[in-house]
Amino acid sequence: MLRSRFLWKLYAGYSALILTSSAIVGIMISQRVEGDALAEIQQSLHARAVLLEEVASQLSEVPDSSFQQRISILGTEIATRLTVIGADGTVIADSDEYPSEMDNHADRPEILAARSHGIGTATRYSNTLKTRMMYLSLPVVEQGQIVAYIRTALPLSTIDGRLNHLRYTIVLGAGLSAIIALLLGLLLTNHYVRPLASMTSIAESMSHGDYDKRLVESRVDEIGKLAQALNRMAESCSNRTDTIKADRNKLSTILSGMTEGVVAVGLDEHVLHLNEAAGKLLGVSPLESLDKPIWQVTRVPEITEILTDSLRDGTSAQRKLLITTKLTDQSLEMDASPLHDGQGNLVGAVVVLHDVSELNRLEMVRREFVANASHELKTPITAIRGLVETLIDDEELEPAKRDRFLGKIKDQSIRLGSIVTDLLTISRLESESNETEEMSFDLCEVVQSTSSVFISTGEEQDITVKVQVPNSPIELSGDEEALRQIVSNLLDNAVKYSSTGGEVCVRLHRHDDHAILEVEDTGIGIEPKDQDRIFERFYRVDKARSRELGGTGLGLAIVKHIAQSHGGNVSLDSIPGTGSTFKVILPLAGRSA
Ligand code: ADP
Repeated sequence: MLRSRFLWKLYAGYSALILTSSAIVGIMISQRVEGDALAEIQQSLHARAVLLEEVASQLSEVPDSSFQQRISILGTEIATRLTVIGADGTVIADSDEYPSEMDNHADRPEILAARSHGIGTATRYSNTLKTRMMYLSLPVVEQGQIVAYIRTALPLSTIDGRLNHLRYTIVLGAGLSAIIALLLGLLLTNHYVRPLASMTSIAESMSHGDYDKRLVESRVDEIGKLAQALNRMAESCSNRTDTIKADRNKLSTILSGMTEGVVAVGLDEHVLHLNEAAGKLLGVSPLESLDKPIWQVTRVPEITEILTDSLRDGTSAQRKLLITTKLTDQSLEMDASPLHDGQGNLVGAVVVLHDVSELNRLEMVRREFVANASHELKTPITAIRGLVETLIDDEELEPAKRDRFLGKIKDQSIRLGSIVTDLLTISRLESESNETEEMSFDLCEVVQSTSSVFISTGEEQDITVKVQVPNSPIELSGDEEALRQIVSNLLDNAVKYSSTGGEVCVRLHRHDDHAILEVEDTGIGIEPKDQDRIFERFYRVDKARSRELGGTGLGLAIVKHIAQSHGGNVSLDSIPGTGSTFKVILPLAGRSA
């Protein structure tokens, strides 16, 4: 508080005022008292001089020595120096000195003044008496002629002593009252400056963003009102800051929750915001990117370009971008827009990055699927049409040939039926993927009953089909029919791709909380390069052989789909020329994968 410059400035002014007024009052009192005292002495000297004039006229007849003596006694009695001076300035008698030893007094100021004005006064240091004296002189006039001068004198030592004492008292009084006034002034100044210092400190805190401090509002004067106004201002600033913070947090949460990448830059192309999705897409840290130039943050020139264009033209722009990394190719769609403030001034630009890689991939898969499905459907349809046209055109066709053609038409229509059935199955599985019928059933029974069909099929082709199923039931929850399809498709392939004399083995067992179904054959096996791809739709190692065997290329895709929709998976272990083992792992009822 005592370090407040304002306090000391105010106090210095106040002190100067107090000291000056004390000095003026002191000097004025001192002068007035001195004047009064001198006037009083002068009056007293005048009265004595008038008396002396009277006495002198009576004594003038007495001889010289006696006159001198009487003046001397009179002077001692009234404690006044009395002098009688001749008209020519010769001292006739003096109460304190021998007239013979005294100089001519004609040129004394009081005598000169008495001669010209009828009365003369003077104050000076008397060499005779070694003290300051006041002299008063009157002329003695007879028949219009000055015959002598009467002079009375009093030493000023008494009055000087009184005046010194008075001055001392005045200085002491003025000094004491000045000290008291200065102390009171310090308290008073402090009383007014202290709240101002608190207000300054609060205002400084507010300028640094701290709105929590408040002032005491006890005073009822203008300072109290100012304190109230400052408190209200701090409150409203605090509320506004809270609202802005809440809005910013909301915005930041929304932006970080977005799957699209968002990058905002200011007019100087420095990053204002870069959300987490953008960080992931561009492989940069959102926090470290803040306030850096965009060209320094990302090495992708297209992003810098679209933002620069948007800033320069003040318009929106859309562009596609392919980011190639070591691992993947990412397809992005960029939407850039200029940013404006409340007054419509351009303050920056924002670019939204949509990762369309997955969409593109799905679109490609869909196109491939449609193309493959059309091709697969077209093949039997073309064959049927050709055969039917031949039958129609050639009425004289040999009956044996006609029967063979009709047989082929039957085969192709069966194949067409199989393709349509598999396509419908895939379509059903995809549409029901999230709502698989949750029914509990015994997988042992499903495997047993489905395999029995293939035992007889195998026998026809001299292929042994063995089934190894545990005695105790293995409970599974899901779509029983779909599980039958898994067993059926795997066994169908195992028999289809085995040669005469081969062996197919279906094994089912429980491992921890999973059911494991293995279908092993001693067939042609699958090359390693094809092992990953055979689960793709329409992928076949040997297309002609597959078609010949009535395959659609969809069987394993259906198996994989069903296994995954039941929380499981399918894998393959195969040696070309030796055989293959397909392994399906499924979680038991009440467990999740
Ligand atoms: P397909 O109807 O052609 O059998 P799948 O989807 O069931 O279609 O099988 C895809 C391809 O995988 C088959 O064309 C075949 O080349 C190969 N394949 C499937 N199972 C076996 C197996 N047990 N042994 C050898 N190759 C197999």
